[in-house]
Amino acid sequence: MSDAPRDRIDETDLQTDRPHSARVYDYIIGGKDNFAADRETAATVLANWPGLRTSMIANRACMQRMGRELARLGVRQFIDVGTGIPSSPNLHEVVQEVAPDARIVYVDNDPIVLAHARALLTSTPEGRTAYISADMHSAETLLGDSALRDVLDLSRPVALTVIAMLQFVEDAQGLVEALVAPLVPGSYLAITIPTGDLAPESQRLADDYTSNGIPMYLRDHAEVERLFTGLELLDPGVVPMPDWRPAPGEKPLPETATNMYAAVARKP
Ligand code: SAH
Repeated sequence: MSDAPRDRIDETDLQTDRPHSARVYDYIIGGKDNFAADRETAATVLANWPGLRTSMIANRACMQRMGRELARLGVRQFIDVGTGIPSSPNLHEVVQEVAPDARIVYVDNDPIVLAHARALLTSTPEGRTAYISADMHSAETLLGDSALRDVLDLSRPVALTVIAMLQFVEDAQGLVEALVAPLVPGSYLAITIPTGDLAPESQRLADDYTSNGIPMYLRDHAEVERLFTGLELLDPGVVPMPDWRPAPGEKPLPETATNMYAAVARKP
């Protein structure tokens, strides 16, 4: 874990009187690391769209498929931005099953995630994991972080995974561009991201989050494709999340069952 708190995140103030995206999510997928304010927000959003739970669980499954695929493609270094409260299997667990020597750096800005970061650090002996507490509103500082540089060699390809996180970022395009620009050719970008295109309840959901103090932004298909500008999309491109390389024998959920797109691309 890196020693210096950065970007003035107060690592001891959990702000439990306010809902936080990571804890609302944790509650909805059945976790225990949440407080009354988080559960109240969760109750509101679930009342308006009970299918959110299915969508969130499908998101974890998609993250795991992406992690495995990237490891099979030979990627051995990962940066996971907006990690969330640990829920096994996390990215390093699926990746290190394929490639025990893989190295994974997790990043989040929530003090609760930090409090549970140890669960993100159970690396194989051959690999490495690290957790960095940082706010992505200052993306440029992340790639220079000494804890990140201690674990990753940025002169070699990295997979950047941004899973169910960009809906909380107003300038998603700017953030993705800032993170991808310094990565060397052969690096990858993997994204899952909420949209208003698929499930009619999505806009209401975004409004509920926003009115509870967690601004949420939805992106349409063209906006999601634009995040991959200059990169080579892997098959099947930007698709409804259940259709992103479903596991063999797995019957994908209907497209309307999730409110998210998924895609992976390679930097040429
Ligand atoms: N990637 C995980 C968690 C998604 S929830 C999964 O898909 O299961 C979104 C996460 O993004 C939360 O943990 C939240 O704390 C984090 N997050 C939101 N805005 C952030 C920011 N500006 N900087 C860093 N992390 C952020």
